[in-house]
Amino acid sequence: MNSIYLATEGEGVHIGTPQVFVRFQGCTIGCLNCDSKDTWDFEGNRWTKEEVLSAIEDAGGKNLKRVSITGGDPLHPSHVPNVLELVTELKSRGYYINLEAAGTRIVPEIFEKIDYISMDFKTPSTGVKTRVELLSTLINNYPSKFQIKAVIETHEDMIATTDAYNQLLSMNTTLNFPWNLTPSYNLNEEFPLERFRNVIKWNEEAGGLFRVIGQQHKWLYGPDEKQV
Ligand code: SF4
Repeated sequence: MNSIYLATEGEGVHIGTPQVFVRFQGCTIGCLNCDSKDTWDFEGNRWTKEEVLSAIEDAGGKNLKRVSITGGDPLHPSHVPNVLELVTELKSRGYYINLEAAGTRIVPEIFEKIDYISMDFKTPSTGVKTRVELLSTLINNYPSKFQIKAVIETHEDMIATTDAYNQLLSMNTTLNFPWNLTPSYNLNEEFPLERFRNVIKWNEEAGGLFRVIGQQHKWLYGPDEKQV
């Protein structure tokens, strides 16, 4: 486990919602613009299930029963048994569970148990690819319980995201879910105002297919701050 902490969600459709973040340690996906490289190494503190549950309850206090499982890559095969055990226990305790999925895997046994899936569509600037067929499976199998998020750094990212949208349309997929564009705000940079405005403009030019939602926590605390 990398860390467990209380913070207010800073992006996507749950923006502004306090939740306990449960950050798994270990990721092999290797996004070029990853802002959590400290989560890549699989060697880290081993937490028992009881330690994890007690840290979640301590962080959330008496009243907050909402978690976001993230990473790292919580859907890496080596994490799946632990995530499954954790979500089963948290559901029995009445928690709402969001999971941040990296856009490379669907894990039905987990997706069926949780309340919401926040799925990345990886754009060219990440150096990673999300298959459109994977999104199609998500859309068909988990209606009303997911959003898609695409980090947009360049116009090429915008074109790739619009292409994926159109490919899904051509597969007769109904696209009535939130698909968010997240203007990138990279480590060590000033607030990228021009990029943000460009993403808004590109989305308008594309016919408003998406919603542009920035990363509020980075505006408040800066792009390098952890656990916010
Ligand atoms: S999936 Fe997440 S943690 Fe892994 S490299 Fe990409 S952004 Fe970083």
